[in-house]
Amino acid sequence: MRDGDPMRIDLPPAVASVLVALRQGGHEAALVGGSVRDLVHGDEPADWDVATSAPPEVVADHFPGATWQNPFGTVTVRDPSGGPGIEITTYRVEAGYRDKRRPDEVRWGSSMAEDLARRDFTINAMAWLPDEGAEGSGRLVDPYGGAADLEAGVLRAVGDPDERFNEDALRLLRAVRLATRYDLRLDPPTEAAIRAHAPEVAGLSGERVRDELMRILAGVPPPSRAFELMERLGLLGVLLPELAALRGVPQAKPLVGDALDHSLRAADALPADDPVLRLAGLLHDVGKATTLADGHFLHHDRDGALMAEQILGRLRASRAEITRVGRLVRHHMFAYTPDWTDTAVRRFVRRVGVDLLPDLFALRAADDVASGVQEPPTGWRELRQRVAAVAGDPLEARQLAITGDDLVTQLAIPPGPAIGRLLAALLEAVLEDPTLNSREQLLALARAMASG
Ligand code: ATP
Ligand code: MG
Repeated sequence: MRDGDPMRIDLPPAVASVLVALRQGGHEAALVGGSVRDLVHGDEPADWDVATSAPPEVVADHFPGATWQNPFGTVTVRDPSGGPGIEITTYRVEAGYRDKRRPDEVRWGSSMAEDLARRDFTINAMAWLPDEGAEGSGRLVDPYGGAADLEAGVLRAVGDPDERFNEDALRLLRAVRLATRYDLRLDPPTEAAIRAHAPEVAGLSGERVRDELMRILAGVPPPSRAFELMERLGLLGVLLPELAALRGVPQAKPLVGDALDHSLRAADALPADDPVLRLAGLLHDVGKATTLADGHFLHHDRDGALMAEQILGRLRASRAEITRVGRLVRHHMFAYTPDWTDTAVRRFVRRVGVDLLPDLFALRAADDVASGVQEPPTGWRELRQRVAAVAGDPLEARQLAITGDDLVTQLAIPPGPAIGRLLAALLEAVLEDPTLNSREQLLALARAMASG
């Protein structure tokens, strides 16, 4: 497929009607960006991007009920049949990237040519212009040869790569994501410019980096490919130096490779639909570079948890994500043996937290795969079953058959820290023997403890 070639598209009715409405209003309207790239590649687009000559307020007038997102003037129209949203943007030129982070100003452009020229890669700088009056038929607008690049398996910046990366350093990461997703090799001048500009990703906002990393982790290709490419291009050491430092850290595991290879394999082994869990896999051994001594990694779980929390904080992850990943790294080293008593199992559950267990076992399974370890039947899978067996037992103070108030009224102990200590001691007793969890037994026990 080449610039100007006719191209038929199976348009969802909602998308077709958006194009027709703009057209009938006397405006030019075309599909652009990711959706055209996906169509040319033969994939169903994940979302529909429409670009038009109509200014945003005119677009908004055409589609009452659509949401209008400033300052980029993107109008989003819902597909009533539940398909992906349709994003309509006015042709634009972005000017002035003084901070290499975001355009200083967005100006509406006058033409599709200008709009395509400001896009990052040739494969993203194609449009599909519908023919007048005929739904689904149209032609490809491809001034930079994106279709040929996609076919040949090449990722190439639009225009001068050096300038493009100078304008926005996020494009360095987008290059890695796109190259991995479509299995493209980097055009040599584009690759050279990425290497030259790599240090500039340090200046990107944490949010933008996080969004891009999450899109990489949520992708279909194993994330290891993208991270290995980032390493080769000099991006990994700038963005995630703690992870890059695992290169060369030896591992005594059946599978060959160092601690970075192992970490990447662990991320690959976790499900794409849970990118945060994949991130935990990626970071689970991040403490190994700094804790290596005499062939052991003392406290790498504890140190690694702090490092992972720091990394996620830098990436402006949510509190919930930081806590989830930190806890997973902290607890990933649990060492079960079949001689554990039920009390030991209950203590383990209490320490880790019931809510974390499914994730923790998933991480452990990925860790095994990434190590080439065949877990014996008496390994953590047995623990998983035993955990299910104690699930009904009280594991927290609030599950005790009495409350602090009961202790205050029944034992005449004044409210204060003594009550807390007593409840903790009662919980210990119940962890040892769940049958003690009745009101009478606990009160009797508390009396004995308080007088003893
Ligand atoms: P996906 O299919 O994962 O959504 P995408 O390429 O569509 O990938 P978006 O972030 O949705 O990515 O961007 C839509 C389009 O906007 C891109 O195809 C590209 O043309 C343009 N674009 C997005 N970000 C940039 C950028 N930082 N610099 C230049 N052009 C960009
Ligand atoms: Mg998109």
